[in-house]
Amino acid sequence: MKPWTRNEFCEHVYNVARQTMRGLRTEPTTERVIYLPHWWTKSEIRVFSEASVPRRTVDLIVDAIAERTREVLPALKFDFRLLGNHESSARQVAASLVNGEIDEMKLFSLALSENWRDESRGGRQHGDIYITTKPPIGDAVSWAASTFQHGAMLFCLTGDRVNSREFLRKVTLHETGHLMGQYSHCDEYKNVAGFTYTEACNMHYACTYAELCKKCRTHFLWWWRGVLDEVEAQSAGT
Ligand SMILES: [Zn+2]
Ligand SMILES: [Zn+2]
Repeated sequence: MKPWTRNEFCEHVYNVARQTMRGLRTEPTTERVIYLPHWWTKSEIRVFSEASVPRRTVDLIVDAIAERTREVLPALKFDFRLLGNHESSARQVAASLVNGEIDEMKLFSLALSENWRDESRGGRQHGDIYITTKPPIGDAVSWAASTFQHGAMLFCLTGDRVNSREFLRKVTLHETGHLMGQYSHCDEYKNVAGFTYTEACNMHYACTYAELCKKCRTHFLWWWRGVLDEVEAQSAGT
């Protein structure tokens, strides 16, 4: 692949962010509605966890999400609401099951379109974290998934995963990177001028490390510039 200049890279990320905020990168729901990713605007994240997930695992996940969101965008200061196995989330997870496995895109689509996020239906914008012990659909390897478009994160902590604290922390930091706008993995943009490519970045698929490389930090910076500029442009009616 041809190398990117630093400017091309930043501009690309910025443009994808603006397109995302216009709904151009989100699949419509079955009712053909496109919900815009405004989940972060009230700085609230709701955390659901099945009864079989120990409290200390929930705390570890919340701490790691708080750490990375603070690092990426200090201005947001998310407020986390721990709701346990609330029946609203239990129902959404149940509706996303295929033979006992979670279809994460189904679940994320339900989260994005739920009434609880919609102010015109008595809701309030927020992100949703689902911590389960169920397996992901057709995939024995994945621990978790997340997207900015949906403002949602799913953990599939089967077997002894709830106790793998060190790795679970890195997985959570990584998924928070996706939640906060990094739509790719670090190795998909290996060739950007001015950034030394390193394996030691949390945004690699394998997330063996906790730290972010300089290129991924730059990705977040331009992502949020694009998001905030687009929101401002929309509210100004341009
Ligand atoms: Zn990186
Ligand atoms: Zn990833």
